[in-house]
Amino acid sequence: MSRIKVWIESREACISEMVCTVLCREVFEISREDGKVIIKDMWRTDKLNFNEGVVSGDLEECIIAAYENCPVEIIRWARIE
Ligand code: SF4
Repeated sequence: MSRIKVWIESREACISEMVCTVLCREVFEISREDGKVIIKDMWRTDKLNFNEGVVSGDLEECIIAAYENCPVEIIRWARIE
């Protein structure tokens, strides 16, 4: 099964209204530190980098929903082998 790289292009632009966490809670959550989006710990390639992860391909649909509905368009994704 393919995997998906997902990243936040410009985290400081997040307006914290939680569309992504509602549409794709498996991948995105809101930081308790600053209230902005982060990639869930379990998917991060670097545990200290909140902005990037590699997730299972079966989450593609929910990632696309988050990508398409983020009002400030900061969610990015790409299929990888
Ligand atoms: S949908 Fe976009 S603006 Fe809203 S919380 Fe997620 S990343 Fe931030």
